[in-house]
Amino acid sequence: MSGENEMKLEFDSRSCNEGFARVAVAAFMTQLNPTLEEVADVKTALSEAVTNAVIHGYEGAVKKITVECRISGQTLFVEVKDGGKGIEDVARAMEPMFTTREDCDRSGMGFSFMEAFMDTLEVDSAPGRGTRVRMTKTIGRTEPKYE
Ligand code: ATP
Ligand code: MG
Repeated sequence: MSGENEMKLEFDSRSCNEGFARVAVAAFMTQLNPTLEEVADVKTALSEAVTNAVIHGYEGAVKKITVECRISGQTLFVEVKDGGKGIEDVARAMEPMFTTREDCDRSGMGFSFMEAFMDTLEVDSAPGRGTRVRMTKTIGRTEPKYE
């Protein structure tokens, strides 16, 4: 059924494209026969990563975000990349409730959600060099509830 498959999206860092990226990744992963819950988990994690690129990475400027997905066996690999301002202290940024944008109503839970809803999360970033978020999730660990 699944085997190996890859796709890549590149889009403007406009917040209206968050929905586009979310739906595209959800459609791509249907070949893994996921449950609705697994799809919702991936969509949530992806939204958080793309929102971060728009808000923190590019701070509202319109530049490019890429989302790459790969399927290998039953595992989905997702990579979200921006060429924005980057993160000074990645470990600190990943702590629950840490945010640099209290001013715009951020709660600092984005990375915590990505961690909770995916199996693995890796963040590579450096000031001025952009940010790459890599996540994986193995689909079908539980019996599909919805066919
Ligand atoms: P929330 O996601 O709950 O709205 P938040 O975005 O501040 O709040 P996280 O998503 O956990 O919380 O991110 C924590 C911090 O990491 C951000 O406040 C920001 O400083 C930094 N950060 C996250 N993603 C990026 C990025 N792509 N580029 C630059 N900085 C980032
Ligand atoms: Mg966030």
